[in-house]
Amino acid sequence: MPELPDLLYVLKTLRERLLGREVTAERVREPVVLRFAVRGNLSLLLGRPLRDVFRKSHFLVFRFDGLDLAVNPMLAGRFKLSAPGEKDEGSLAFALGFGDVELRYLDDKSMGKAYLIASEDWKAVTGMQTGGIDVLSPAFTRDRFSSLLKHRRDQVRVFLLDKKALDSIGNAYADEVLFEAGIHPKTWCRALGREDAGRLHDAVVHVMREAVAEVARRGEPIEVKVRDFLKVRLKEVCPRCGSRIRTAGVKGMDAYFCPRCQPATRAGLVDWTKTGK
Ligand SMILES: [Zn+2]
Repeated sequence: MPELPDLLYVLKTLRERLLGREVTAERVREPVVLRFAVRGNLSLLLGRPLRDVFRKSHFLVFRFDGLDLAVNPMLAGRFKLSAPGEKDEGSLAFALGFGDVELRYLDDKSMGKAYLIASEDWKAVTGMQTGGIDVLSPAFTRDRFSSLLKHRRDQVRVFLLDKKALDSIGNAYADEVLFEAGIHPKTWCRALGREDAGRLHDAVVHVMREAVAEVARRGEPIEVKVRDFLKVRLKEVCPRCGSRIRTAGVKGMDAYFCPRCQPATRAGLVDWTKTGK
């Protein structure tokens, strides 16, 4: 899934390359990803200049006169800029031509969705959840974070992934944030004290800002997910203490963590420091 740092980089690149350009072509290979809340299809965009591209929740919204195309890449969606006529990827779902450059939406799982709607008709878009606080904004303070955390009855990793609370953290960065804060992913939110909450808040800000800067610094093509700088996600050895990285299932998702740097906080969890493995 593109996470916030990826989306911000994609957004910046698309704005630089495409803003103000007219749609000159459209192609659909995987109709299942498209939803139309207007009468017609992608050909409605032909001849319209791209006025804006922005992020709204975990969607990228392409704004044209009178129409918005809102794309939620879900688990496997990616954007790519190609020359028109360049060989299609097997995962191509649809493409919009802008003269000598083509914007492709690729999706290996065809799970993402693209909604063509009348301008700002957000209610026609499933899952356009708003209300989560932008973790990169100045409004995301320690106090605000603590108040969000206060009434939660779930595990801390589930809370971090809740898009209605925080905008937004996905699986990869949830692991990085918890590692940075030294908190076990299965810890109950209610077990976190004031100091823990402060440390966790600071870890969110630190990890997400660093990642935004790193992804931008690398300047890879937008279809590439830059993840090799992560410390625990999909890793084998803790970069801090050398322990073996473990995984735990948290609400159906695999969490990666270091058992020594993020010790178990409640009974019933495997204490990996005592297993000798
Ligand atoms: Zn460690």
